[in-house]
Amino acid sequence: MARCVGVLALQGAFREHVAAVSRLGVAAREVRQLKDMDGIDAMIIPGGESTTMGKLLNEWQMLQPLRERIEQGMPVYGSCAGLILLCRVIENSDQPRLGVLDATVRRNAFGRQVDSFETDLAMPAIGPEPVPAVFIRAPVITGVGPGVKVLAEVKGQAVAVRQNNILATSFHPELTPDTRLHGYFLGMCGS
Ligand code: GLN
Repeated sequence: MARCVGVLALQGAFREHVAAVSRLGVAAREVRQLKDMDGIDAMIIPGGESTTMGKLLNEWQMLQPLRERIEQGMPVYGSCAGLILLCRVIENSDQPRLGVLDATVRRNAFGRQVDSFETDLAMPAIGPEPVPAVFIRAPVITGVGPGVKVLAEVKGQAVAVRQNNILATSFHPELTPDTRLHGYFLGMCGS
């Protein structure tokens, strides 16, 4: 189990992730600058605006060090904008990214009318009961490399994936009381 999970706190819905991890009895630290990453053994990248977060990561010289930590095996979980930042290919965009997840993502993929919605999602990796999932201007994954496992889909499109130490969801589990997804992530953090 992780001793301390960093939650990227430059922008977006980071407080809810801190709360979810804390509810599971694990220490969480808001990461605002490079030195905040010292001593963390896992990282969560929250939802928000991926272009802003990528730009800030770049400006604060955190993008490359964070990429290296992930490539060296540090577990990372990205939700929504966090998922976008993890992906290697972002359709029609050259925005800054970590690019560590061998997948292609389409931003704002659910269109205007259904911009935001909530659904119960089958996700066998988490457990037999469906996961309550909140989608807010959410992306979908439109392509994955051979090392990427799809964990959940909406209308045949991937919305949760895992590649070794990298977990990513299009939706926001931190906005619901269900902590199973965070529990699954902490389970990826070893003992
Ligand atoms: N649409 C946002 C983006 O592209 C993501 C939305 C979210 O994180 N809830 O960055």
